[in-house]
Amino acid sequence: MAVMCSVNNCHYWAEGNKCRASSILVVSDSMANDAPDTYDAMQAENATPTPADTCMATACKTFVQEGDPAITDDHITPRIY
Ligand code: SF4
Repeated sequence: MAVMCSVNNCHYWAEGNKCRASSILVVSDSMANDAPDTYDAMQAENATPTPADTCMATACKTFVQEGDPAITDDHITPRIY
C-alpha cells in the first residue's frame, strides 16, 4: 500500500508526494505530543489504541523534519523507489 503525503519537509517525503518510510504510525494528537521520538511503528502491534473524532485530531508519529538529529531514534528506515 502506498502512503501519499504532502508534508515535504519530512525526512521520509519523496517527489510525487510519496512517503518512503518503511512503515508509519498514525496516532491521536495527544499521543503524538506525549510519546517520545523512540515510540513509533516498531511498537505499533502492542500500542494502546488512541481513538479520534476527526482527522484533525490525528498525527503521523513517524514525521521527523529533514536534518533533525532524532531521525534514527525510531529505527524507521527509508524505502528506495
Ligand atoms: S512519515 Fe508521515 S509525515 Fe513523513 S512523509 Fe511519511 S506520512 Fe508524511
